[in-house]
Amino acid sequence: MPEGPSIIILKELVQPFIGKKILSVTGNSKQDIQRLSGQKVLDFKSWGKHFLICFNKFSIRIHFMLFGSYSINERKETKKTRLGLHFKEGELFFYACSVKFIEEDLDDLYDWRADVMNDNWSPARAKNKLKQIPDTLVCDALLDQHIFAGVGNIIKNEVCFRIFLHPESNVGALPAKQLNQLIKEARNYSFDFLKWKKAYVLRKHWLAHTKKICPRCEIPFIKKYAGKTQRRTFFCINCQVLYNNLPLKNNSNDGTVIVKNKKQQLQGMIRKLKSGEYRLYSRVKDTKTNKRKNLGTFNTLAAAKKHEQEIQYFKKK
Ligand SMILES: [Zn+2]
Repeated sequence: MPEGPSIIILKELVQPFIGKKILSVTGNSKQDIQRLSGQKVLDFKSWGKHFLICFNKFSIRIHFMLFGSYSINERKETKKTRLGLHFKEGELFFYACSVKFIEEDLDDLYDWRADVMNDNWSPARAKNKLKQIPDTLVCDALLDQHIFAGVGNIIKNEVCFRIFLHPESNVGALPAKQLNQLIKEARNYSFDFLKWKKAYVLRKHWLAHTKKICPRCEIPFIKKYAGKTQRRTFFCINCQVLYNNLPLKNNSNDGTVIVKNKKQQLQGMIRKLKSGEYRLYSRVKDTKTNKRKNLGTFNTLAAAKKHEQEIQYFKKK
């Protein structure tokens, strides 16, 4: 499914059609697409994953859903055209997408400040919206198009990995610094995505999405259809910190390696050593040495985790 940056690329590619008249229309869309015949394209816009073609007094919204695609000046023979726009010089084809007429003014319909790639993007508004949904999981919040229009599943996975954040954290449990980073990187990563996609090197830069091993810890990623959105989520339970709204005692046994709650109570962190062993370190640095304390070395990750839980149990006593 095209994420926001892919729609920006499409918008750039179709610029030559601005000001051009549509001579004929084809496609199996059930909308009254013949209405477009003879119309002049005034502009192309985008809002998140929505691609908008603007005409005099109305617009067309193309949403690529899960399997939609497009082609320019060349029809894909293997696909059924949903909407084909034929100009004197050139053609535009859209496949397996949703096509909808919009009669309202786009400025009334769309909040451009919610689009992470828009010049009008407002981090402050995103933060306000997030504060209203404290129990929502980060993985669901990132995919919420009213907060982060344009962010899709790849961006979601990569942003969480980049900022060391467990995607099943509750939004309301994030410390201010982490919340700000989440908002900042949703936009930053989207522009990296755009740059890499244009250079055909996007996949090469994936660190978490579809990956099996965490490149930072060299231990297996968890793959899970997380949250209410139930989209594929890849994360490392060692280096991505879980912040949640639950009291610590309720989640100490859920298999999560690092758990922080609102009060910033800290457990250890586990690193894989070159020798193949696992070492447990304190999360808090020693004030004298400014280093994390070595809390023990173990042959297996499970043993390291077990010890960590024992320490936690001991601390609470
Ligand atoms: Zn990791």
